[in-house]
Amino acid sequence: MPDDLSNPEYPIPEDLRGQVTITTLDKIYNWGRRSSVWPMFWGLACCAIEMIATATSRYDMARFGMEVMRPSPRQTDLMIISGTVTKKLIPQIVRLYNQVPEPKYVMAMGACASGGGPFKEGYNVVSGVDQFLPVDVYVPGCPPTPQALIHGFLVLHKKIAAQPIKAIPGYQKAALEPLPIPVLGPDLINLRDLPRIPAAASGSGPEEA
Ligand code: SF4
Repeated sequence: MPDDLSNPEYPIPEDLRGQVTITTLDKIYNWGRRSSVWPMFWGLACCAIEMIATATSRYDMARFGMEVMRPSPRQTDLMIISGTVTKKLIPQIVRLYNQVPEPKYVMAMGACASGGGPFKEGYNVVSGVDQFLPVDVYVPGCPPTPQALIHGFLVLHKKIAAQPIKAIPGYQKAALEPLPIPVLGPDLINLRDLPRIPAAASGSGPEEA
């Protein structure tokens, strides 16, 4: 059993060391979760090629229990947003996010997903997927190397390991509301900005809504 699972507050007698460990429910539960994160298999642009390379035997995601990448939100708990997020695609991305069961995590892989990247000023590009989804880990680079993505996995594992079970979203009694799916019209409309739009149109609010 990994050393970080043991609870040093309860010393184990010398003759039982290596055979017995004492830990907490949070630690053992999160160890299981972080050791079996299943990413969704999909890609948006060039970053996806690096994500695919990470899954090959050279980098071996299987050592993290992450080799099961399925193109379905049903069996996933990690969305790697690997590539340029266009306005045309963000409604589908948010819809998929809502279909992933809790607890779920989002990783923004690369400059495009994190902030628009080289296409930031493009008419068709979202300047960061975090405008619409809660991002847990940002992986910098254009594209990030497989090593950078693996570092992102380790950061995510640390985050999962530190979450008390009682604080995990989705394990609360109150049902979580799905995120509003953006509407693609003449331009992209973020439904969370809806109250600001009439004010902007009448000139009494900020121009951008
Ligand atoms: S960050 Fe660079 S490599 Fe990744 S999708 Fe954007 S342009 Fe392609």
